[in-house]
Amino acid sequence: MSGSREERRERLVELYREASTCTLCPLSEGRTNVVFGAGNADADLMFVGEAPGAEEDRQGLPFVGRAGGLLTELIQGIGMTRDDVFITNVLLCRPPGNRDPQPGEIEACRPYLEQKIDLIEPRVIGTLGNFATKLLTQSNVGITRVRGTPQVHTLGGRTLFVMPLLHPAAALRTPSLADTLREDFAKLPELINTPVPGTEPEPALVSASDPAADQLDLFG
Ligand code: URA
Repeated sequence: MSGSREERRERLVELYREASTCTLCPLSEGRTNVVFGAGNADADLMFVGEAPGAEEDRQGLPFVGRAGGLLTELIQGIGMTRDDVFITNVLLCRPPGNRDPQPGEIEACRPYLEQKIDLIEPRVIGTLGNFATKLLTQSNVGITRVRGTPQVHTLGGRTLFVMPLLHPAAALRTPSLADTLREDFAKLPELINTPVPGTEPEPALVSASDPAADQLDLFG
């Protein structure tokens, strides 16, 4: 979408309000909170995970459990903070018992994700794990085959890089994968500054502006 940063931020807050009463799929019946996403409403780098877990559902915030701790470390490892990026999930509501997202749930939530991408206008989306990767690369090829190599996609009306990444929970389960995840994260800063093929080169911006002004402070 075009429009000023303020207009896009206002539209994002409207979208948050709409999502917080969503009943498009049965997951709405079991949730404590909708987990819309959090971070910088004008971020160049966005992360998309799978779905809220128990702690995320309780707090209404993404990646606040153990996997979230590792994600925070990985973001700090590339010289950024969670406030510089926007973090969200394929699903806004917790699946019971943390089971896999179902196709109908993914489809119901998809317009929210596409609108977030349209409004935030990231240059790079890091997809965390299989569900986000398959959805945003529009492919059935699994994460272990595609991880670490950026792809160019048009999503939410915007052409951008998608960087498939292992899910932090996988790296917690299998510690040898943590190094792979760190290596792939290390590619992100340069990617943010790389012109997206087929689009006009834009000046690189990695949170050069006042971070406080950029915060989507929905939950504070
Ligand atoms: N927490 C999230 O918010 N998303 C995940 O995919 C895993 C944990």
